[in-house]
Amino acid sequence: MESVDYTIIGGGVIGLAIGYYLTQQYPSAATALFERNKYLGEEQSGRNSGVLDVGHLYRHDSLKTRLCPKRNRMLARFALAKGIAYFQMGKMTIAEEAIKLMKK
Ligand SMILES: Cc1cc2nc3c(=O)[nH]c(=O)nc-3n(C[C@H](O)[C@H](O)[C@H](O)COP(=O)(O)OP(=O)(O)OC[C@H]3O[C@@H](n4cnc5c(N)ncnc54)[C@H](O)[C@@H]3O)c2cc1C
Repeated sequence: MESVDYTIIGGGVIGLAIGYYLTQQYPSAATALFERNKYLGEEQSGRNSGVLDVGHLYRHDSLKTRLCPKRNRMLARFALAKGIAYFQMGKMTIAEEAIKLMKK
C-alpha cells in the first residue's frame, strides 16, 4: 500500500470536513479517507434533520453554543461558494413546560 500523510476513518460530515481542510491547507500532502459503506454520508450525516442549529437548545455557556453562529456563517459562505442551496427559514421553539407554569 502507498504511504499517506493523513488518514481519516469515516466519510461522514466530520471526516469529509477534515479531509477538505487538509487538502486545502496541505495540497501536496497525501490524504486517504476510509469509509466502510459504499457511499459517503450514509449514516448520521445523511439522515439528520438538515438544520443549521443556532445553539439555543444547548447550555448557554457551552463551547457548542458559542461556536454555532460562527459555524453557520462559515457553512453559509461555503454553500454560496459551492452553489449548494440552503434556506434561512427561522425556527420556532415552544417551551411547553413554561406555558403550563404561566397558566397556573
Ligand atoms: C436524528 C438526528 C437529527 C440530527 N439533526 C441535525 C441537524 O439538523 N443539524 C445538525 O447540524 N446536526 C444534526 N444531527 C447531528 C449530526 O447529524 C451529527 O453530529 C453528524 O452527522 C455527525 O457526523 P460524523 O461525521 O461524526 O458521523 P457520521 O455521519 O456517523 O459518520 C461517521 C462515518 O464513519 C464511518 N465509519 C465508522 N466506523 C468505521 C470504520 N471502522 N471504518 C470505516 N468507516 C467507518 C461510518 O460508516 C460513517 O459514514 C442530528 C443527529 C441525529 C441522530
